[in-house]
Amino acid sequence: LAERLQETFKKLRNKGSLKEADVSEALREVRVALLEADVNFKVVKDFVNKVKEKAIGQDILSSLTPAQQVIKIVHQELMDLMGGEYSKINLAPKPPTVIMMVGLHGAGKTTTSAKLANFLRKQGRRPLLVAGDIHRPAAIKQLQVLGEQLDIPVFTMGDKQAPAVIARAAIENASNSGRDLVIIDTAGRLHIDEELMDELEAVKSEVKPNEILLVVDAMTGQDAVNVAEVFNRRMQLNGVIMTKLDGDTRGGAALSVKAVTGCPIKFAGIGEKLDALETFHPDRMADRILGMGDVLTLIEKAQANFDAEKVAELNKKIRSMEFTLDDFLEQLQQVKKLGPLEQVLSMFPGMGGLKKIKNLEFDEKELVYVEAIIKSMTHKEREKPEIINGSCRRRIAKGSGTSVQEVNRLLKQFEQTKKMMKQFSDIDKTIKKGGKMP
Ligand code: GDP
Ligand code: MG
Repeated sequence: LAERLQETFKKLRNKGSLKEADVSEALREVRVALLEADVNFKVVKDFVNKVKEKAIGQDILSSLTPAQQVIKIVHQELMDLMGGEYSKINLAPKPPTVIMMVGLHGAGKTTTSAKLANFLRKQGRRPLLVAGDIHRPAAIKQLQVLGEQLDIPVFTMGDKQAPAVIARAAIENASNSGRDLVIIDTAGRLHIDEELMDELEAVKSEVKPNEILLVVDAMTGQDAVNVAEVFNRRMQLNGVIMTKLDGDTRGGAALSVKAVTGCPIKFAGIGEKLDALETFHPDRMADRILGMGDVLTLIEKAQANFDAEKVAELNKKIRSMEFTLDDFLEQLQQVKKLGPLEQVLSMFPGMGGLKKIKNLEFDEKELVYVEAIIKSMTHKEREKPEIINGSCRRRIAKGSGTSVQEVNRLLKQFEQTKKMMKQFSDIDKTIKKGGKMP
């Protein structure tokens, strides 16, 4: 999705002025991109209409070009679609706060229960985890193991009692042991069925949770939205936790959930580890979907700090594809002047995607090694890295006091950067032309 939208916006960026036809054209592509990302059809329609209305009716801010303004509106609307601000957990006026986790099999309920306990403990809560899935034999054990890893107590009554009974007893236990947060894991099913819903409703009416959170798997796309709709109708959800956003998922589900159900996404699961849970930020998700980072800030910084002549020279090389490892080093040193590397990279269009590539995560300190490695190469190797074979790599590693892995990593980074430089080149062309982004 990000790639596709970037294409669209690149087209916009290259236009001097923006006419109504341009807006329509751009939005047609936005529409297709969103549909392809599995965003709910109705949501897409409303979205595009809204943006169009705003884009065409609005005065153009003097600091922005029309294209920038359309991008800004699309970004803002994406954010609004996902709830605007991030949403917090409702705390009980009188502890313990009770959170009930619901969702289908494999969505990540049990893992996320533990993650959430861990997350909220860092904010000073004293959580108790409750094993309320009595249907899967391994579910209780799974939660116990997670609780042990985190050193968070797990309340269980085995699998012979009804979940509502277990939940009630757990809350009593929490009150007696000074726990101010109860997180109830529940059973799932492959598909929504009456028996499951009845069981969950029984827990709900027994303990009246402060929060019922639906856990959905982002990888299931539009299905996640349907699941959210059905659960919300039956259970009146307070929020959604979207898991597996670390994978190669499409942003579509995140976009639709709030719009279709009215429930905000409160947290995002971003990995299997127990600290891989974060507050869901609509603005960051919009960034990710658009994949374009803060282009404007970058331009300002770039104008202030880049050595224009060197940049121009570099661009010439990139366009003629002569970009060498020497240039790479030069460029890294230029970029370093801009500020913390990660921050700089994140401001580039497309870095949302690139960041996912592990070996692109430069560390400032690594620059020293990068320099050592490149300096240990022969002139020929720097010009034509493709000639660097296995034994060259060993020699270079030795010469620079690094390892072959590090040399490999650098060469990979170089290749990636070469691709990325195309984007530099687009931006710098505009800088040279006299400043502002088109
Ligand atoms: P449940 O059936 O809903 O209780 O799901 P589980 O908590 O057992 O999780 C199912 C699988 O999804 C497990 O292998 C988890 O490690 C994995 N999982 C959960 N959340 C995430 C996430 O945010 N990212 C990734 N990559 N895996 C996750
Ligand atoms: Mg489970």
